[in-house]
Amino acid sequence: MSSPYPHLLAPLDLGFTTLKNRVLMGSMHTGLEDIPNGYDAMAAFYAARAKGGVGLIVTGGFAPNTDSMIMPGDGLLDNETTAARHRVITEAVHPYGAKICLQILHTGRYAYVKQPVAPSALKAPINPATPRAMSEDDIRRTIADYAQCAAMAQFAGYDGVEVMGSEGYLINEFLSPVTNHRDDQWGGSFENRARFGLEVLRAVRERVGPNFIIIFRLSLIDLVDGGLAWDEVVQMAKAVEQAGATIINSGVGWHEARIPTIATMVPRGAFTAFTRRLKDALQGAVKIPLIASNRINDPQLAEDLLARGDADMVSMARPFLADAEFVNKAAAGRADAINTCIACNQACLDHIFSRKLCSCLVNPYACREAQIAAQFAVPPAPTFRKVAVVGAGPAGLAAATTLAERGHKVTLFDAASDVGGQFNLARRIPGKEEFGETLRYFRTRLKELKVDVQLGQRVAAEALKGYDHVVIATGIVPRTPAIPGIEHAKVTTYIDLIEGRKQAGKRVAVVGAGGIGFDVAELLTHAHDGADPIASYHKEWGIDTTYTENRGGLAKPEMPAPVREVFLLQRKTSKVGDGLAKTTGWARRLLLQKRGVHMMGGCDYLKIDDAGLHIAIEGKPRVIEVDTVVICAGQEPRRELVAGLEAAGLPYTLVGGADVAAELDAKRAIAQATEFALAF
Ligand code: FAD
Ligand code: NAP
Ligand code: SF4
Repeated sequence: MSSPYPHLLAPLDLGFTTLKNRVLMGSMHTGLEDIPNGYDAMAAFYAARAKGGVGLIVTGGFAPNTDSMIMPGDGLLDNETTAARHRVITEAVHPYGAKICLQILHTGRYAYVKQPVAPSALKAPINPATPRAMSEDDIRRTIADYAQCAAMAQFAGYDGVEVMGSEGYLINEFLSPVTNHRDDQWGGSFENRARFGLEVLRAVRERVGPNFIIIFRLSLIDLVDGGLAWDEVVQMAKAVEQAGATIINSGVGWHEARIPTIATMVPRGAFTAFTRRLKDALQGAVKIPLIASNRINDPQLAEDLLARGDADMVSMARPFLADAEFVNKAAAGRADAINTCIACNQACLDHIFSRKLCSCLVNPYACREAQIAAQFAVPPAPTFRKVAVVGAGPAGLAAATTLAERGHKVTLFDAASDVGGQFNLARRIPGKEEFGETLRYFRTRLKELKVDVQLGQRVAAEALKGYDHVVIATGIVPRTPAIPGIEHAKVTTYIDLIEGRKQAGKRVAVVGAGGIGFDVAELLTHAHDGADPIASYHKEWGIDTTYTENRGGLAKPEMPAPVREVFLLQRKTSKVGDGLAKTTGWARRLLLQKRGVHMMGGCDYLKIDDAGLHIAIEGKPRVIEVDTVVICAGQEPRRELVAGLEAAGLPYTLVGGADVAAELDAKRAIAQATEFALAF
């Protein structure tokens, strides 16, 4: 049978070793590094991805010395005793034919320690600590520490290392004139700024010998003002090969960049043109493979970019949290069974930034592999029962599929004509189209597991007699605030607006600035219908695709003409959008600000009438003259079934929004429903 993805699944010969395909699982800090029995947990985590078909895995970052950790106590690899503990990881991965490299990460001025080190004493905008400029001795010692770390990785059985040279970490800080103001041999000219990274590579290669993979992660586009110029990126790629690298991986944007590079609002494949540009610029001058990265989450996209020659290999990281079996499913022609990463960051990066264990919104098993009793399989239920799941939103879908996996006989009901619940609203928000992939995945699972799906049926308690148990996953009802005039014709619910039953006028007030209020404001101000989403994203965020206008790849943002004037309101006096997620909230706020959305806190809603929405702020009344008022004032649990089931004596369990609507999100809905089903 011919391969469904011939380029993606083709082996890659590195001379001294061969990778079984062109898929690299990119480095992710998962937090497993920091928990008791963390090495066993990491072994189970990486082994699941190796079993799932990945060709080459890169671990989360390990520090080469104590200066280089993100936080004190983070993973450090500098001696044989620690290296021996890593053997459990490499030994778990190798039987599946995958290779694994350890990432060496020196965080430089991003380290959250009292005094980080950096090429120059220049504070990063995302770290309160000002770094100390490294002395000549510090630099020499640090280069030796990289080499020692690589040697310890080799001792631990890794197939190679990835030297992190992008994202604004130490090597990138040396390379960039923004962060390197030195006037000795380590700063000034390009050759001097490049010296540190290249010396690191040479020292590592000398220590590990020729038959060990060295990946260098090179910043293709810094996205910071004054960052690398394009010709310097090209020169660095050539120098990296000369210094002993086996593969160049691409990095996009520093952590301090004010442009989102991996959030769901970033279109798929938004940066592959830069990898292509580098390949063209090198014109065969560099022989080692080049890897494309960022917002690649689909095998066809990966196949197409390899077939076009944009890169030699593809890096995906979060997609392997969402589905450990990504590659095997692709290889078997079952791409519709892949649980796609929707780039929400909610359970991965947002967790890591709050020092919580990483997982995945669409796959709550991620990073809990070691806890799942039978290896990588869901344990069967002790007794099989007949279960009705009412509501096919994320909670109901997770409950139904997990119960069916465990052998129960499941019927899934929904009043709507399709499964998905509120995800059918979320996927209509520009930049959240990925949410539709989760529904495609669940549809495939329901079919595979032979769940009896009954759509278009609003179920009453009487219809559920005969089931052993009922899972109430009926979600929520939107809250209707008691504002005089709420019944006015200009008022609409967010549901009617998103589903297109009501149209918004030119001036709109959005009452409630939670996650849904922000999404509605995005929908109301989005101006790109029909335009190429990648081109629109580059323009709106000011990314210089020609990479000529400015160092760092920045251009002047080009905002489309405003579609309408929007007022986003809340009663709280805190900053509007303060409660949004850490890693994506800033970008959502910034985008709406760029589009001129008025964000107003401390609002007292007085009434709605023909003139518009009457509010008072700090006691001062004002009328916001709008044609439309969209209510996004939170939600209440939908529980009509409870009384009837209790009267009939039918046992039931509430999950998702039907259980608790306050601060509900799909992460909680899916995780709670899955945990219930595993314990049932
Ligand atoms: P729901 O998704 O509400 O599903 C309940 C289902 O039950 C519905 O399909 C309904 O038709 C059905 N039902 C109700 N009563 C009956 C009955 N008697 N008989 C049969 N069927 C019935 N969350 C995130 O985590 N991240 C996001 O980025 C995000 N974005 C969002 C954007 C928008 C625009 C919206 C509206 C929501 C968003 N959410 C997001 C929230 C997320 O969608 C919800 O938290 C999640 O859908 C809750 O899942 P649930 O299964 O509990 O309920
Ligand atoms: P929410 O985040 O709880 O926000 C509700 C908003 O309504 C708040 O701004 C609140 O602010 C306001 N409000 C509450 N009661 C009100 C009242 N009686 N009158 C007027 N205003 C009132 O809920 P949501 O926006 O409906 O979102 C639902 C859930 O979906 C959220 O919990 C969220 O996690 C999830 N979601 C997540 C995302 C995401 O991108 N991660 C996107 C969409 C939805 P004040 O009380 O200050 O007025
Ligand atoms: Fe992807 Fe969201 Fe899962 Fe993170 S939590 S891996 S972004 S789907």
